[in-house]
Amino acid sequence: KLANAPKQQETMGCQEEESEEYLFKIVLIGDSAVGKSNLLSRFARNEFDNNSKTTIGVEFQTQVVEIDGKEVKAQIWDTAGQERFRAVTSAYYRGAVGALVVYDITRKSSFDSVQRWLDELSIHCDNSVARMLVGNKCDLENIRDVSVEEGKSLAEEGGLFFIETSALDSTNVQSAFEIVIQEIYNNLSRKAI
Ligand code: GDP
Ligand code: MG
Repeated sequence: KLANAPKQQETMGCQEEESEEYLFKIVLIGDSAVGKSNLLSRFARNEFDNNSKTTIGVEFQTQVVEIDGKEVKAQIWDTAGQERFRAVTSAYYRGAVGALVVYDITRKSSFDSVQRWLDELSIHCDNSVARMLVGNKCDLENIRDVSVEEGKSLAEEGGLFFIETSALDSTNVQSAFEIVIQEIYNNLSRKAI
């Protein structure tokens, strides 16, 4: 069962802390071939696939992260190639509490698409979704097409976090996901107060 709030089990006199369970749905969005699937495989399995054409089968991967001594399950969804046809379904977005909006720093058109992805996200999810703008493939500095400043300022405009990553050499991949997970957790804590 999906829940985006802590779930209390019957405590039967147990410590309350032990009965808390967190499951956060996080979606990966962005143009085709920006590296979404490789970011996820790097994060979840520490793997990189040079020939990944389209995403194979897997709908989501669950990764356990510890925050504040609590076990948080991040259920990270990958698009399975639907984005090529601009046909990401509403089921994909449903229940998401976090999103990584990915572009390729060597391909300006993928950066220009970011706004469209953000618009689509806001149709399906409310404003409290934790959002991270991710400029991937930062290992390809020599053919960079989008500056760090451009990325930063777009993120600032939209109130998103910003990071540049490389799924190839692992730069910042862990951080990209963990910052989002931490922010979702913080949002929850703020709501609970
Ligand atoms: P997706 O369509 O967004 O899921 O993108 P993929 O993960 O399938 O990656 C598309 C292509 O970009 C593949 O050929 C990957 O090997 C390559 N790629 C992905 N991430 C990186 C990266 O960080 N650096 C480099 N140099 N190539 C990458
Ligand atoms: Mg993919």
